[in-house]
Amino acid sequence: MEAYNRLNDYYKKLFGERTLKICINGHFTCPNRDGSKGREGCIFCYNGGSLITGNSPKKISEQIEDFLLSYKGERANKFIAYFQEYTNTYGSIEELKKKYDEALNASPNFVGLDIDTRPDCINESVCELISSYNDKYHVFVELGLQTSNENTHRLLNQNITNDDVRNACALLKKYNIETIVHLMIGLPNETHDDIVKTVEFINELDVEGIKIHSTYILKDTKLALLYEKGEYIPLSKDDYIDEVIYILTHLRKDMIIHRITGDAPSSLLIGPSWANNKKVVMNEINRIMSYSNLYQGKYYRK
Ligand code: SF4
Repeated sequence: MEAYNRLNDYYKKLFGERTLKICINGHFTCPNRDGSKGREGCIFCYNGGSLITGNSPKKISEQIEDFLLSYKGERANKFIAYFQEYTNTYGSIEELKKKYDEALNASPNFVGLDIDTRPDCINESVCELISSYNDKYHVFVELGLQTSNENTHRLLNQNITNDDVRNACALLKKYNIETIVHLMIGLPNETHDDIVKTVEFINELDVEGIKIHSTYILKDTKLALLYEKGEYIPLSKDDYIDEVIYILTHLRKDMIIHRITGDAPSSLLIGPSWANNKKVVMNEINRIMSYSNLYQGKYYRK
């Protein structure tokens, strides 16, 4: 028995074979950057250019062509179009449709559409559009929660509330759209108690999946300034691993685990240094869980 519901196994069940995501920069911005909610952005968010396509973002279809040309074709034949950067439901419905269509029409091998966004950028019209892809593709929406502590939301300058998250999840459920929430471990001023409360909050949401990230410090972010001033100390690898294991063992058993550690871009990473050694962290989590007979939901209580 696997210790937790792994994404690769879930994709195999859904699509019949190994399936990969193609990360896309959809040239979106964010209400927390363009002034409609805020101008500064979240303090951990890198705003110095695209993490996917650098400073001169290519057309969506070109990004997909580039990926498929460089891709060796051995690992998967099916793909998910993953709109990853900034807020991918922030635009007019016409603009959103044009971008999603451009991606999905770029290859006949797409079987899914996955959209990262803010909870306050989900509304009826957006859900109606996204759910219209459900006939042909498996559709996922990912929401940036990070923590249920609203003091931390303010400190991170997220400009969201827990009610935004609850409302977005209820609306996505109404439209039968599979939902994934993001949680970050090691946020400034947070303690284990915040993780406990955030896990309880997520267990109560009607969502299907979770993505767990470490808080890493990227160049040119507000978090980097706090770190330089000694006002933020990142978590150690061992503490991170302990928190991930706590989360997995206290989460609902039905939840799909989309990620248990982040992928820090090494050219931008200031710290912690272990954050770009994803394999080591994952292997250690798997080793401890197997050795200690721990598994997802072992300590979950309604
Ligand atoms: S993390 Fe997301 S919500 Fe925050 S500023 Fe960056 S794109 Fe916007």
